Amino acid sequence: MSKKAASILLIYTGGTIGMIKDYKTGALRAFNFDKLLERIPELSHLDCEIQTISFEEPIDSSNMTPDLWVQIAEIIEKSYQEFDGFVVLHGSDTMSYTSSALSFMFENLTKPIIFTGSQLPIGDLRTDAKENLITSIQLASLKANGKSVITEVCLYFEYKLYRANRTTKINAEHFQAFASLNYPCLAESGVHLKIHYEDLLPVNRRKKLKVYKSFNTNVAILKIFPGITPQVLNAFLNNDEIEAVVLETYGAGNVPTLKWFNACIENAIVNQKVIINVTQCSGGGVIMGAYETSSHLQKLGVISGGDITTEAAVCKLMHLLGNNISKKVLKTIFETSLRGEMS
Ligand code: ASP
Repeated sequence: MSKKAASILLIYTGGTIGMIKDYKTGALRAFNFDKLLERIPELSHLDCEIQTISFEEPIDSSNMTPDLWVQIAEIIEKSYQEFDGFVVLHGSDTMSYTSSALSFMFENLTKPIIFTGSQLPIGDLRTDAKENLITSIQLASLKANGKSVITEVCLYFEYKLYRANRTTKINAEHFQAFASLNYPCLAESGVHLKIHYEDLLPVNRRKKLKVYKSFNTNVAILKIFPGITPQVLNAFLNNDEIEAVVLETYGAGNVPTLKWFNACIENAIVNQKVIINVTQCSGGGVIMGAYETSSHLQKLGVISGGDITTEAAVCKLMHLLGNNISKKVLKTIFETSLRGEMS
C-alpha cells in the first residue's frame, strides 16, 4: 500500500457528533470511535492515515472544564511530533470556549488543530457530522512543500473554517451554528476547498512550541442591562473571590454615567481588580472614548477588549492570570493580539 500524504490524530471528547441512534429504542448512545472507519467508509478514501483517541468518558460539552482543556492539550502535546494535524470532536455548545482556550495554550504552532462537531448525530440520516468531519480532516491534512498549510487553532462547521478564537455559537437549530463576525473565514468548502491564505496566521517554524497549562478561574462575566443595581455590580466587582471581570457593555463599550456605577468601578480598580470591556453586540468592538459613556472607563484604567469575543476574552483572562502576568503589565498584554483574537 502506498504511503498516505498526512497522518491525523482524531480526538473525540464527546458531544452530539459521536452519537448514533438505536433505531429499535430511538435513544441516542455514544459511538465506538475505534470502529470509525467501519462506520464512515468514506474516510478511507482520504489521502491520510487516521488514528483515533477518545476521552474515557465522552462528555456533553456543557460539562467542559479548564482541567479537560489541559487534558486535550496534553494529548496533542504528547503526539505533536508524530502527527501532521489534529482534529478535535467536541460538542458545539462550548466549542468556542475550548478552542479559544487552546489557541492561547499553544504558542508557535506549526500544525493545525481543528475543532468540529455537529448539530445531528453521526448516525442520523440527515446528519451534518460527516461533512464536518471529512472536511476537517482534509483541511488538517493540507500541505504545501511538505509543510502544513494551516498552523493555528480553528473551528470548522457547515462549509466554513474559522479562526477558533473569533467564533461564537449563534444558533442552536441551524446547521450553520457558528459565526465569526469580526474576522473573515479562513477557508470555504464548496466544489473546491478554497483557502484564504491572506487571512491565515503567519507561522514562524524556527520558534519552539510552548504549551501553557495554567488557568486562573477566579473570573466572571457580567452583562450590563438597563435596571442593573449597585448590589449586582458590586457583587461582581467588589468581591474577594473574583479577581477579574469581563464586562459586557453596550455598543462600542458604553455604560451608564451614574455616580454609583462609576464609584463601584473606581473602587474595584483601586483594589487591584481587572476589568475588561467587551461589547455585548455580536459584531464590532469597543472603542473607549468614542462616547462620553465610555471615556470615564478609559480614565479609570478599564482594559479594552477591542473586538474580541466574550468567549476568547474570558479564556485569555484565565490564561494570563494563570500564568502570573502581573496586574501592571496585564493591560498592555491583554490589549495586544496574541493569537489573532483581536484586530
Ligand atoms: N449539548 C451538546 C454538546 O455541546 C450539543 C452538541 O454536541 O452540539 O455537547
